[in-house]
Amino acid sequence: MMFTIQTLNNISQNGLSRFGDNYTVSGEADNPDAIVVRSFKMHDMPFGENLKAIARAGAGVNNIPLDKCTEQGIVVFNTPGANANAVKEIVLASLFLASRDIVGGIDWVQSLDKEENIAPIVEKNKSNFAGTEIKGKTLGVIGLGAIGAMVANNAIDLGMKVVGYDPYLSVEGALYLSNQVSKVNTLDEVYAEADYITIHVPLLESTKDMINEASLAKCKDGVKILNYSRGGLVNNSDIIKAIESNKVSCYVTDFPEAELLGVKGVIPVPHLGASTKESEENCAVMAVDEIKEYLENGNIINSVNFPNASMPRKPETSRIVIANKNVPSMIENITSKFAKNGLNIVDMLNKSRGDIAYNIIDITGDVDDSLCERIESLDNIIFARAL
Ligand code: NAD
Repeated sequence: MMFTIQTLNNISQNGLSRFGDNYTVSGEADNPDAIVVRSFKMHDMPFGENLKAIARAGAGVNNIPLDKCTEQGIVVFNTPGANANAVKEIVLASLFLASRDIVGGIDWVQSLDKEENIAPIVEKNKSNFAGTEIKGKTLGVIGLGAIGAMVANNAIDLGMKVVGYDPYLSVEGALYLSNQVSKVNTLDEVYAEADYITIHVPLLESTKDMINEASLAKCKDGVKILNYSRGGLVNNSDIIKAIESNKVSCYVTDFPEAELLGVKGVIPVPHLGASTKESEENCAVMAVDEIKEYLENGNIINSVNFPNASMPRKPETSRIVIANKNVPSMIENITSKFAKNGLNIVDMLNKSRGDIAYNIIDITGDVDDSLCERIESLDNIIFARAL
């Protein structure tokens, strides 16, 4: 089977080259089977009738009209965790930026008069930029997902004590964490123990402004706060007041806003968290693999609008994938079509998510397109596709 892929935005070649010979890939593709996109706004874009999948090389999907995609049976993917290492590395760098006045020191050196003999001036003034070490200090990590868990493990390697808080930690997440990370059950324990706090939770109604006057009051004097998650997690005016009263000694943020500029103790970073060459490549590789797996095998991994569903292929079987509205009696209606055609079901997976259900069905022998048409003629079927 041949597939046509459209790219919107520049997508890393390291990712696109994975499509291989059975794929035609271009920015101009007409009526594609799938689209790979970064930030292109797709809300006003008409979709061709062949379109089956959209993969966003990145995490956020607000440039994609999800409701319209779900209605039309288009599976939308994203690439969670693909940029985690990039964010982790800049968080580690920020632990040092918050501890030693590297930024102030460099700015000062750059301001020196080139006509002067610099070396003795440097030696005389360097004590103005002295700092502390992170070894032996306690890091509080709020949110132990893809990024938080990597930060926690690496901070242990750097000789820190780590307390981690995540009430929704998955089993895989817990297994990945170093057993030296002390998992605590309340945020108050993080606030009480941490010399440094780094935040790695999504911005939700429940997490908005989580670092505020009340939470900062529970922290150690001179605590350092790192925010590479979202600006809205930290209340700017509360943290500025806390810096002025020396409660907070440093705030490193990837989300600069006007009121934070020029405040001594704030290190504003221009949203560099995921800005690495490798992170873009990782996202593209993951997006391409997700699309291939879906078009070739019907397996859904990391979808944001369809249920995730995967089943390994077996030799000498054919596969049909079916999406339907999540209403009663659908499995019975669908499988009766197989029985009527004398087809033997070898394996079947049914998963649902909200109003959508998705089935992967393996049968002995071949599936012909007329079976898909007969299934599609049933009420509440979104699509049936033979692979
Ligand atoms: P993730 O989904 O893997 O991890 C988030 C973790 O937060 C999960 O383990 C979840 O259980 C936990 N969590 C949710 N609510 C919580 C709460 N109230 N208290 C404690 N833990 C809670 O996500 P990730 O890939 O680690 O990314 C984390 C955040 O980093 C993202 O939501 C995003 O906002 C941000 N991010 C920023 C950049 C950047 O460029 N600066 C890049 C990527 C991600």
